[in-house]
Amino acid sequence: MFNDLKGKRVLITGSSMGIGLAAAQAFAQCGAKVGLNGRRAPDNLADLLAGMHVHGGEAGFFAADLSRTEECEKLVSEFVARFGGVDVLINNAGGLVARKPLPEIDDAFFDAVMDLNVRSAVMMTKFALPHLKAAAQASGQTSSVIGVGSIAGHTGGGPGASLYGVGKAALHNIQKNWVDYHSQDGVRFNVVSPGTIDTAFHADKSAKVKAGIASGIPLGRLGSAQDCAAAFLFFASHACSGYITGQILDVNGGQFKP
Ligand code: NAP
Repeated sequence: MFNDLKGKRVLITGSSMGIGLAAAQAFAQCGAKVGLNGRRAPDNLADLLAGMHVHGGEAGFFAADLSRTEECEKLVSEFVARFGGVDVLINNAGGLVARKPLPEIDDAFFDAVMDLNVRSAVMMTKFALPHLKAAAQASGQTSSVIGVGSIAGHTGGGPGASLYGVGKAALHNIQKNWVDYHSQDGVRFNVVSPGTIDTAFHADKSAKVKAGIASGIPLGRLGSAQDCAAAFLFFASHACSGYITGQILDVNGGQFKP
């Protein structure tokens, strides 16, 4: 079913590790041309890129801090210069920045969380949209923008994560507007919304704390980055999801049921 991803140009933000990297590797296995991104290159970049060429895929790394609008514009330009266009954009860069309860929230923290989680996705989508539209016109297939939401966008977030939850809820919501006003461009908009996925995101948690979280998840374990990857392939593939837009796919082992 994912055969149509061969040769597609897929830009994945925040993909030097974790959920974004696992998605990038899955796309490369399908023969896609993949843009990796982070603020800095991972130490094992050469090995990662080589591994992604093995199955007919192709990958390049583009450093950019996407909490800054000008870096979003630069990333899209550099990706298009390398691969000639954009068929799929995955707005995956995001994070807590820090955990701060309400009394500790100040303007700088508010801006940092919103810049990383919301501004980055809005600006990346804005700059990529003309390319996504052109790709849809050229191929006769829909292009795809995939946001990365969170269980926190449904529940409000854990301790000190209220603004993060707000930012993820914004991503769950904003695509409703984009569906109404940009479907005519041949672009679909969907969100993958992970539960507790065992990545560096949870590096502050002990094994005991993680086991406690796992005991509350119906499928009995934390998710892995690989558990999320097929959801991105599904939303990216016109053959699989060409008539699906404006949806949220929760990947959480039953942890939360909207
Ligand atoms: P992760 O392992 O911490 O990876 C984060 C990635 O984002 C890294 O590649 C990082 O690279 C990059 N990044 C961070 N700040 C950036 C910036 N300003 N500009 C560009 N890239 C940046 O996180 P993850 O768990 O894979 O999470 C990926 C996405 O899933 C995030 O949006 C997160 O909110 C969401 N999510 C995660 C979970 C979970 O339980 N793990 C649950 C729900 C949602 P650099 O550090 O080099 O910039």
